Amino acid sequence: MAEYSIVSIMRNAMSGNRHWRPAWRAAAPKRAYDVVIVGGGGHGLATAHYLAKEHGITNVAVVEKGWIGGGNVGRNTTIVRSNYLLPENHHFYEWSLKLWEGLARDLNYNVMFSQRGVLNLAHTPAQMDIHAERGNAMRAAGIDAELLDREAVRAFVPRLDMSEKARFPVLGGLLQRRAGTARHDAVAWGFARAADRHGVDIIENCEVTGFVFEAGRVAGVETTRGEIRAEKVGVAVAGSTSEVMRKAGVDRLPIESHVLQAFVSEPLKPALDSVVTFGAGHLYASQSDKGGLVFGGDLDGFNTYAQRGNLPVVEEVASLLMAMFPSFGRVRLLRSWGGLVDMSMDGSPIITAGPLPGLYLNSGWCYGGFKATPGSGWCFAWTIARDEPHELNRAFALDRFERGATLDEAGAGPLPWHH
Ligand SMILES: Cc1cc2nc3c(=O)[nH]c(=O)nc-3n(C[C@H](O)[C@H](O)[C@H](O)COP(=O)(O)OP(=O)(O)OC[C@H]3O[C@@H](n4cnc5c(N)ncnc54)[C@H](O)[C@@H]3O)c2cc1C
Repeated sequence: MAEYSIVSIMRNAMSGNRHWRPAWRAAAPKRAYDVVIVGGGGHGLATAHYLAKEHGITNVAVVEKGWIGGGNVGRNTTIVRSNYLLPENHHFYEWSLKLWEGLARDLNYNVMFSQRGVLNLAHTPAQMDIHAERGNAMRAAGIDAELLDREAVRAFVPRLDMSEKARFPVLGGLLQRRAGTARHDAVAWGFARAADRHGVDIIENCEVTGFVFEAGRVAGVETTRGEIRAEKVGVAVAGSTSEVMRKAGVDRLPIESHVLQAFVSEPLKPALDSVVTFGAGHLYASQSDKGGLVFGGDLDGFNTYAQRGNLPVVEEVASLLMAMFPSFGRVRLLRSWGGLVDMSMDGSPIITAGPLPGLYLNSGWCYGGFKATPGSGWCFAWTIARDEPHELNRAFALDRFERGATLDEAGAGPLPWHH
C-alpha cells in the first residue's frame, strides 16, 4: 500500500484520483490467529498496531461487530490531556500524550492532533487549591502545568464571561498547554490502515457471540462469521464490556455502561482556540477545525445500551455553556449523539491479563478513553505479548477492587463515582 505523501497526492491528482487503494483490506476471517482482538474501536485497533510494530506479532485479527469508527472512537469530544493527580494515572496518560505527539508520523496518517491547550476553570478558592495540588503533582512528574490567575485566564480565553455579573465568577484555572484535540475518526482510520499494513486482518460486520474453551483456557471466539481460534483473545469493547464478558462466563465486573452525549453547533468563524472546562458544573467545550463548537457534559444517568440520549442533558449542557460563554447563546445546535461509556467504579481504567486464562481485558475508560487510545493500545499489546503488565499499567489490574486499592482520582473514598 502506497505511503501517503506529497508525491502520492500529486500522482493521484493527475490521474483523476481513480487509483487510491482502500485504506484497509476487507479481510475475511481465517480459521486461526495468534491473537484475536474483540472490538475495532480505537483501543482494539491501536493494540493490533502495537502488537505488530513493537512485538512482531502480525498474525492478528481485529473482530468488529459493526464498522470501524462506529463506536465511541468516532463519537467523542476528542479532548486529549494528561492532567491527572495520581501518579498511576498521570504517568500512563503522559506516555499516551507522548505517543500522540508522534502519532501522525508513526501511522503515516494525519490525525489532526492539535495542542491548543486544555484549561480547567476554578470558581472558588477551594477549587484553586485543588488545581494547584494537581498542577504541582504533574510538574513534579515532569508534566507541563500552569496555574493561571484571573487575568491570565481572561487573556487566554477572551470570550469567557469574566464580568462581575457572571453566575459563577472565574478565579483562575489550571492550564496544560500540550493538551488539545484530535480528529476522532481519523484516529480510527489511521490505526486501522497502519495495522492492516502490518498484515493484521480487520474483520468488520463480525459480532463475537461466544467464546471457545479448551483445556480450561479461552481458545478462540464464536462469531456471526464462524468460529475463529486464537492463542490469546483480547477484549476491548468499551461500553459493551459487561455484555461481551458475560459470553465468557464472567458476569461480575466493576463496570457499568452509560450513555454519554456530545453536541456540535453550526459552524462559526474561529471563536475558541483552546479547550475549556467549567468548574461549577460538568462541561467541556472546544471548536473543531470545521468551525462547530463541540461540547459535552454529564452522563444521562441511567444504564442503557442505546446510543442516544435525553433532552434534560441537552438543556443542562446548553445552560452551562451559556454560563461560560453568553455570546454563544444565539448559536444553533446542529447535531448530537450518544456513545456507550464503560464506567469503572474508581474512574481509572483496567488493562490486564485475565480474568480467565487466555483472555485479556481492556476497559473502564469512563469519560476519557479517547486520549488514552495510543497508550492503552501500547500497554495492552505489551501485556498480551509478554503475559505481564508494563510498569505503566501494573496498577490497572482487576484485583485492585477486591483489595480495596482503588485508584480514586476523584477522592471519593471507597464509594463508586457519582454515576
Ligand atoms: C459523547 C462522548 C464524548 C467523549 N469525549 C471524550 C473526550 O473528549 N476525550 C476522551 O479522552 N474520551 C472521550 N470519550 C470516551 C472515549 O470515546 C472512549 O473511552 C473510547 O473511545 C473507548 O474506547 P474505544 O475507542 O476502543 O471504544 P469503541 O469505539 O466504542 O470500540 C468498541 C468496539 O467494540 C465493538 N463491539 C462491541 N461488542 C462487540 C462484539 N460482541 N463483537 C465485536 N465487536 C464488538 C463496538 O461495535 C465498538 O466498535 C467520550 C465518549 C463519548 C461517548
